[in-house]
Amino acid sequence: MGNRFFIVNISSAIFDRSAPDLDSCPDESLPEFAFIGRSNVGKSSLLNMLAGKGILARVSTTPGFTKLINFFTMSKTWRLVDLPGYGFAAGAKHERARFNQAVARYLKHRPNLCCVFALLDSGLAPQEIDLEFVEWLARNSVPFVLVFTKTDRGTPEETAANIAAFTARIAGWFEKLPEIYRCSATTAQGRSELLAVIGATLDAGPAISEPMPTPMTLPPEIEPPFSMRVRAGNVREENPRGKMKFKGSRPW
Ligand code: GDP
Repeated sequence: MGNRFFIVNISSAIFDRSAPDLDSCPDESLPEFAFIGRSNVGKSSLLNMLAGKGILARVSTTPGFTKLINFFTMSKTWRLVDLPGYGFAAGAKHERARFNQAVARYLKHRPNLCCVFALLDSGLAPQEIDLEFVEWLARNSVPFVLVFTKTDRGTPEETAANIAAFTARIAGWFEKLPEIYRCSATTAQGRSELLAVIGATLDAGPAISEPMPTPMTLPPEIEPPFSMRVRAGNVREENPRGKMKFKGSRPW
């Protein structure tokens, strides 16, 4: 997937804060890389595998923290952002709406968000909630890559079939498919590749870059398409992402 030589080295991982909403996030001085997926997709295990320490997973799985946006400062130079999972019906309606709005607002309006790692379970056939989430990312021009987790579980054929089925479902939405990574927290497959995505972005440094492309062929009139929707009445502001860009913020 491209020529990437700089694998970011994680020398420290320090918990910064848990934010309930966009306004509570840290300042925008560091590039951010966010991880998100359905509950049980293997996010905590993957973060642990990436960072090589227990600190990330411990915070991420502590009750109460799982619905917040958790920020970790990595090697003093970038932030790893652990986003709440989507697609489970926990919490009261009001609570859920707030939580959904916070994540949606973070994804849409955070100017220093460089890349979202959208986690998908490689052992499952395409799930509607995941498809809708990917569509939502595309529609909102959020930079992302797809990460298929738990690749050690199924046979290579099963994994390949599930990935092919997923990409077949989304292929029509893009001129060029998002990058795809295969990962296992058990075997550490994919670790250097994901760190290379981050490294390439950091290496590129801050720069003015072109706006994100808008997918051409999304079906109309289904915004917002999935349960992580922003409540009605929340009008989208001008995209502040144009103000501050990282050259590598669009890794596909
Ligand atoms: P989260 O809810 O997304 O944070 O998921 P967890 O990291 O807690 O993982 C959910 C379940 O999947 C746990 O039972 C993990 O042991 C298992 N799991 C996570 N990653 C892997 C993996 O790469 N390989 C295998 N075989 N199991 C995994």
